[in-house]
Amino acid sequence: MNRRKFLLQFSNACLAGIGLSQDPCAARPVAGEPRTRITTEPSAPWAIRDAACFDVHTKVFVPHRTIWIEGERIAAVEETGRAGARRGKRVLEAKGKFLIPGLIDAHAHLTTVLYQAAMTGDEILPFFLANGVTTLRNTGDNVPAQKVIQRYSENHPDICPRIFLGSFLIGSAPPIHQDIGWTLSKPEDVPAFVAHMASWGVTTLKIYANCLPAVGRKVIEEGHRHGMGVTGHLSSYPASQAIDDGIDCLEHIQSVSDFLRSDPRNRHSLDVTTDAAQRLVEKIARHKVFVDPTLMVFWGTLFFADDPQVINHPDNAGMPKRLLDFWAKDRVLRLSNYSSGPLSARQSTFRRYQELVGMLHRAGVRILVGTDAPQPQVPPGLSLHHEMKLLVDSGMPPGEVLAAATWNNAKALRQEENLGSIAPGKLADLVLLEANPLENIENSRTVHRVVRGGRLLTPSQILKATSGV
Ligand SMILES: [Zn+2]
Repeated sequence: MNRRKFLLQFSNACLAGIGLSQDPCAARPVAGEPRTRITTEPSAPWAIRDAACFDVHTKVFVPHRTIWIEGERIAAVEETGRAGARRGKRVLEAKGKFLIPGLIDAHAHLTTVLYQAAMTGDEILPFFLANGVTTLRNTGDNVPAQKVIQRYSENHPDICPRIFLGSFLIGSAPPIHQDIGWTLSKPEDVPAFVAHMASWGVTTLKIYANCLPAVGRKVIEEGHRHGMGVTGHLSSYPASQAIDDGIDCLEHIQSVSDFLRSDPRNRHSLDVTTDAAQRLVEKIARHKVFVDPTLMVFWGTLFFADDPQVINHPDNAGMPKRLLDFWAKDRVLRLSNYSSGPLSARQSTFRRYQELVGMLHRAGVRILVGTDAPQPQVPPGLSLHHEMKLLVDSGMPPGEVLAAATWNNAKALRQEENLGSIAPGKLADLVLLEANPLENIENSRTVHRVVRGGRLLTPSQILKATSGV
């Protein structure tokens, strides 16, 4: 739409008496009884006035910007003062506040962990949105169940993030995760499976740890033929080989670090100082492969047995009881697995994970920001902010981390036309912060308002939808 037409519609809306309050949020119903209500369309044109606006390309805040929103998209971004003040009533004053694109969690699940907690995905979606996470990239789940949750999200956009579907976990027999694994033993079985995933609307194919290299290679080829992104949590299919085969992304820092062990049987024998480590890092950069470290899930798993602060972290406080009960139950399994061995060994492993993230970043690798929520100690929504802090602690500047959580994540979803930056024509998925996250990345938690598809929302109202969960 051209500017003139937009202005005309905007003034008409004002004249018609739609949304005359100073704060559009105050005039609109939000949340309510989410499980039965289908929400209305986004409101008439409105503006966020005079915010500092994050530019994902220069990685700085541009001051004094007014963002005009029409329907679910951004209509214009302009310098405040030129025309902003005269456009009248339907304006959210944002002077002194910081506007960033909606955050994307690049690694989330909506059936597998919840299945064990006797929960359904819709129950945790508001926790993401209330914390500024406006989009989820699913990285492996039961597909029909995801589809139902995606439909729920589309029907309840004022309490749910957008959802992009991930495939079942592709591996050999027997599946590592019975509830979401899918066995493909031969490359010739791959085309029909991938075509089937495409017919469900799946956008990310996930190769799992026990996938045979020949099958993995075919998944990449077929996925690309269907325009899908292909990612991998790799173990039996070596990362270097998957990169040669054209994989788009590596999930978990372990999909890099597990190939840099001095003793293949010992997960704590990671050595990032070797030539082999340097070569792999350079190769990942050269092939423009994304790496999604998900440091949160390792932080949550490696230390909870020794450090009560992990289980009692304030971010866990508002989580549903059934989820917390499952996390407590899962403790037994983890104690004999990731959490085994001396604490000092686990601490040193985690430090090396972070060193490796720093190396990848400095080499020019595009880092994604994913969490693995709702795995134990990885609370949906808040964990994305914690992940960003862990990435900053790994040596990434806050501006790079913010750009990764928005622009890189959108690119990994092949959605950069719609998501990931604040620009005319993009979907109006935005987060307005009280404080500058470039000064301290933890300021990303100061969410004042969330905009999802042009709808202006407040965190407390979104969270009302979780009462009784
Ligand atoms: Zn995962």
